[in-house]
Amino acid sequence: MIYLDNNATTVTDPDAAKVVHDVLMQGPANASSQHAEGQRARGVLDDAIEKVGRLLGSDLTRPGGPRLVITSGGTESNNTALRGIGDPDRPLVVSCIEHPSVLSTAQKMQDAGRAVRYLPVDSDGVVRTDRLADLIGEGDDLAGLVSVMSANNETGVQQPIDEVAKICRWKNVPLHVDATQSIGKVPFSVHSSGAAAVTLSAHKFHGPPGIGGLWLDAGVRVDALMQGGEQQLASRPGTEPVALAAGMAKALENSLASLEKMSGTVAAIRDRLESEICRRTGAAVIGGDSPRLPTTTCLAFPGVDRQSLLMALDMMGVACSSGSACSSGSSQPSYVLMAMGLDRSLVDSALRFGVSRFSTEKDADLAAELISSAYQRLRSL
Ligand code: PMP
Repeated sequence: MIYLDNNATTVTDPDAAKVVHDVLMQGPANASSQHAEGQRARGVLDDAIEKVGRLLGSDLTRPGGPRLVITSGGTESNNTALRGIGDPDRPLVVSCIEHPSVLSTAQKMQDAGRAVRYLPVDSDGVVRTDRLADLIGEGDDLAGLVSVMSANNETGVQQPIDEVAKICRWKNVPLHVDATQSIGKVPFSVHSSGAAAVTLSAHKFHGPPGIGGLWLDAGVRVDALMQGGEQQLASRPGTEPVALAAGMAKALENSLASLEKMSGTVAAIRDRLESEICRRTGAAVIGGDSPRLPTTTCLAFPGVDRQSLLMALDMMGVACSSGSACSSGSSQPSYVLMAMGLDRSLVDSALRFGVSRFSTEKDADLAAELISSAYQRLRSL
């Protein structure tokens, strides 16, 4: 199988898997227990959290300083941020290309009476920062929270977070950034992002699935989604997954050590895959004129249906995706590509391919050949 669906989830880093295994085998690990075993677990957990913070440019050791709330992943972090940060009586501003874990939460909140305003994107898939200040509003109309992703999961297009943060700072409204797709692929510093809160998810950077985090800047209050014990200052009750946290820290360490490779070899593999497919099939690159993640390409194949091509490729041993894995299976067109104003025929023929540092040139060449042959076959039918 040639795995080209690394935006959905990544190949597990063997070093991270080993850390998870080793911590699990060290013994029972409830970090809230007062006995020696519990205290040992607490040490492992605290070290993992501190390391993740350090790797993301944030010192989490200062009391009252920034902190990292451990969650089950990107979805929970996004839900927590939207529901728990900022003034809940004020409008929420989200971009219209956010992940379903943001957009569906926003929709639910809107159904319950909260005003939600949507930041549009241009035809290159970049959020319209020129519209942001107006959408945030002022006075009685001022928004309570803005949420914009750092890079889109379907197109890989990177968003101008610096500009978004500048506007939020000027308006004095907290910004949440869903950095799920950026962290581990491109340099990302939580502090320099200017965000009040940042979402991360371990399985997107070769860590274990089922763990992620919500980084909170100093002084940012968050209301818990769930009720329970006092773990994580009651921001996220429940026994912490110590082994997964240690695995996440290791995966992040290895990913960040490979960032140069990401912008070099890995980007070259993506470019090679993309240009070979386009040369053989006449596919169009979506978002190709924008700054993109080095790992992602979203291609529209003229005259074929994306689901048919996806199935054909699956049978030939190539794994890719017809959009967000969280909305796949739905026959709806991609709302991300629709928001870019793309022609419906392009939207219905678009597939997403995601490489990683575990991908090879040989994979790219073979995949391009298989994709081209599946495409020609479907065209001839
Ligand atoms: N945000 C983005 C941008 C994503 O791509 C994803 C994963 N598809 C998520 C959030 C959700 O992350 P998780 O799978 O860890 O819940």
